[in-house]
Formats: sequence, structure tokens, C-alpha cells
Amino acid sequence: MGEFEMARKKNSEGLKRSLFAEFFVILLLVIAILVASIIRTSNVKKQGVNASDAPQASQNQITDAQSETASAVVPASVTATTVVPVSGVPATTVPDATYLTAMTTIPGVSAVATTAGLYTTTPITSAAAAASELSEDDKVIYLTFDDGPTDNTRNLLDILDRYGVKATFFVIHTYDGCEVQIKELYDRGQQIALHSYTHNYNIYRSVDTYFEDLQQISDLVYNATGGYRSTLVRFPGGTSNTVSRKYSSGIMTTLSKELPARGYRYFDWDWDSTDAEANRQDTSVIVRNATKAIGNDNHVILLMHDAAAKTTTVEALPQIIEAYRNAGYRFDVLSMTSYTYQHKPNN
Ligand SMILES: [Zn+2]
Repeated sequence: MGEFEMARKKNSEGLKRSLFAEFFVILLLVIAILVASIIRTSNVKKQGVNASDAPQASQNQITDAQSETASAVVPASVTATTVVPVSGVPATTVPDATYLTAMTTIPGVSAVATTAGLYTTTPITSAAAAASELSEDDKVIYLTFDDGPTDNTRNLLDILDRYGVKATFFVIHTYDGCEVQIKELYDRGQQIALHSYTHNYNIYRSVDTYFEDLQQISDLVYNATGGYRSTLVRFPGGTSNTVSRKYSSGIMTTLSKELPARGYRYFDWDWDSTDAEANRQDTSVIVRNATKAIGNDNHVILLMHDAAAKTTTVEALPQIIEAYRNAGYRFDVLSMTSYTYQHKPNN
């Protein structure tokens, strides 16, 4: 091999080496690009997940809300689902299948909740309900408080005023001098309605004894307010109470006809806060039960109590108001022309 040849071979070997080096560099580059691309893709995916976290969360909220609505239609498919809290309202659960099974939808009226067998809510197709001018999708809640006035009344009033909300108070004679508090309720624009003077179930002995008691509370309100004569009534125990059987057979059936005949209008409730099911019911339980109508019923007469022991009802009220307000309900008071809900007499 001559000089030239050796040089050529060297060159050729050098060329081979440099080609190999170039190939190696390119290979490295390709690998680098591939790795970079993989990393980039994975980052894009991560960003994609991150970016969609918020929408996904709100989608879940919508889904929960929808399932709440849907559950009213197809109870069997419902399982308890946690609902994302809305502005300070504790997480509540979508009514479970058992609860919804206990609900009956009355065409043109509302859904009915039967709670713990305290009362039955077999509705009557009443002229009063038909007289209501509410449209199906007009969302209205009537907060009602029975058995006051008590030490809690002032607190309830302050909360109602803070939210600019009016409620209906079915009052009784709680103590001598309670006229002062009834006057305050009246002066602060709340709706005064009649429950009973004594709230003793022996008023159901006869039509006369019932109306004597009713006249007493009517006069008390009349005197306390300087001349307001209320014709709005809620029976102690509700129209469907069975305790009256002890005093007079058929009395509730008779009274439910006699009241309108004498110019009164009576109101039961279609949703129960269950604040009377325990001496001092848990605040969270009251809130949960009081807001169960949301998504299930656009016309809500909510039963609550203004009794002395019901301090947790006071605690629950702001959350109840906020939940209904956030769900688009307006607040109204019961009247001779408002929506009403009447239980069917069981005696
Ligand atoms: Zn009562």
C-alpha cells in the first residue's frame, strides 16, 4: 500500500469514523427530540387535566343537582349523593330512595313528604289549592312557625329582618302578657295566624269547644295588634291528626268543613323541618330536612316551631333561607288567597 493509498484508507477510515459520529449525534438528537416530545405531550396532558379540574368540578355539581331533580322522577335510581355546599350551607344529601318512595306527586299541586309517620299527607283536591294563582314553575316558599311567641321569637324576627323575609306565625297563648310579642311580630310585618289559645287537644271534644278556643286566640291577636282580625288557621296537630279521635269521632272532618263555612282558611304543610321530632333537634338535621323540597317542589309550606326549646330552629334558619334563596325561591306569607296545602282528615 503506497503513501496515497494509506492516506486514502486513513481518510476513508476517518470518513467512516466521522460518519459514524454524525450518525451517533443524529441518533442522539432524534432520541432527544423523541424524549422532549414525550415530555411535552405528557405536560400537555397534565395541563389538560389541570385546566379541566374546575369545569369538571362544576360539571359534577350540575350532575348532582340534575340527579336531585331526576331523582324525583325516578326514585329507584337514587342513592345518597353528597351535594357541594352552596355559600355556607353544609353539604346535604340528595333524598334517598326510601325517602322518595314516601313522596307522592300530586298533579298540579306539589310533592308531599311523609316524615316519620307523625302525620299522613294524603291530600284533598281542595278548592283552596286550585284557587292559588301560582304557576307550576313559580318557586315560592312559605316559612311557617307554630306555637310562639317565646324567647326565640325576637331572634327569629332579627334573622327574618336581616334577610328581608316575611314568615307566617301560627300563634298560641304562651303566657300572660305574650300580647307584647304578638304586637312586635305584627309591627315588624310578619303574618299573624291562629293556632290555638290553649294548644290542648281537648279542644277537639266538640265543634263548640274548638271554636271557643279559636275565638280566644283570635281575640288575643285582635287586642294585641289594635284591631287585626286574622282568619288564617292551623289546627293543633294538623288536619290529619289522629289524637283528636280520643276526644270526638269525626271531629276533624267536621271542622275542616266548618272553618271555611265560618270565613276561615286553614293551612297544613307539605314539608317538615322535623324540628319537633326531638326536643332539641340537631341544627344540621333541621337544615337538611327543611331544604329537601329544593329540586323536588316549587311550592313549599315549611313547618317549623317557635317553641321555647327550639333554639336549633333559630340556628338553622339562616342556612334554610340562604339555601332556598340560592335555589331561586321567593319568600311569601300565607293569606286568604295564597297557595295552601291541606291534609286529609283522619278522624
Ligand atoms: Zn302546635
